[in-house]
Formats: sequence, C-alpha cells, structure tokens
Amino acid sequence: MKARLETGATVPAWGGRRAQDALAVVKAAGRKANTPCCICDQDIDYSLPSTVPDGCTLQHLKSRSRFPHLTWVRSNWGPAHKRCNESDGKGKAPGDDDRVVTDDF
Ligand SMILES: [Zn+2]
Repeated sequence: MKARLETGATVPAWGGRRAQDALAVVKAAGRKANTPCCICDQDIDYSLPSTVPDGCTLQHLKSRSRFPHLTWVRSNWGPAHKRCNESDGKGKAPGDDDRVVTDDF
C-alpha cells in the first residue's frame, strides 16, 4: 500500500485517514502508559473525545512546518490536550517552534 503523492510532494500531507490512524495509535499508547500531555505535562483523560478541549490530540514534537520529513514518524508523535495543541505554535516567536517542549525555562 503506497500513498499517492501530489505533484512534487515527497511527504504526504498530514490529514485524512492516515492521520486518524496515527491519532488512534497515540491515544492507545497514551492510555496504556497513562502518558501526560507532552506540552503541559498534566494528565490526559483518554476517555474524552479528541474534539473537546481536554481531549487527547496528536502533537508533532518537532513541528511539521520545520521538519516535514518527520510528519509520519511515530517517534515524533506525542499526546497533547486539544487546548494545548491548539495554543502551541500560536503564541511563540517564529523559528521557536522546534524547541523541546519539556525544556525548563
Ligand atoms: Zn496539556
């Protein structure tokens, strides 16, 4: 099974069925290990749907914009609250989005 690439693209865009599957993988692993949010380090209620603010979403530990080749790499995925995921990248300075999110300030 091979993803059909768009013109010139070497990495399939994030989204669709594959992204859904990726989220399912992250949620299953997170639920099993009780993994905290990779952004705020607080517990995640994995029973919540991913559409609510406290639900689990998939966070790219290294941003897709700067590391597109890591888009589909399992080790680059972590669980994050939807609200954390959505605020991540918006309040940060340009070029600052590749820092390790667990760094102390
Ligand atoms: Zn969080």
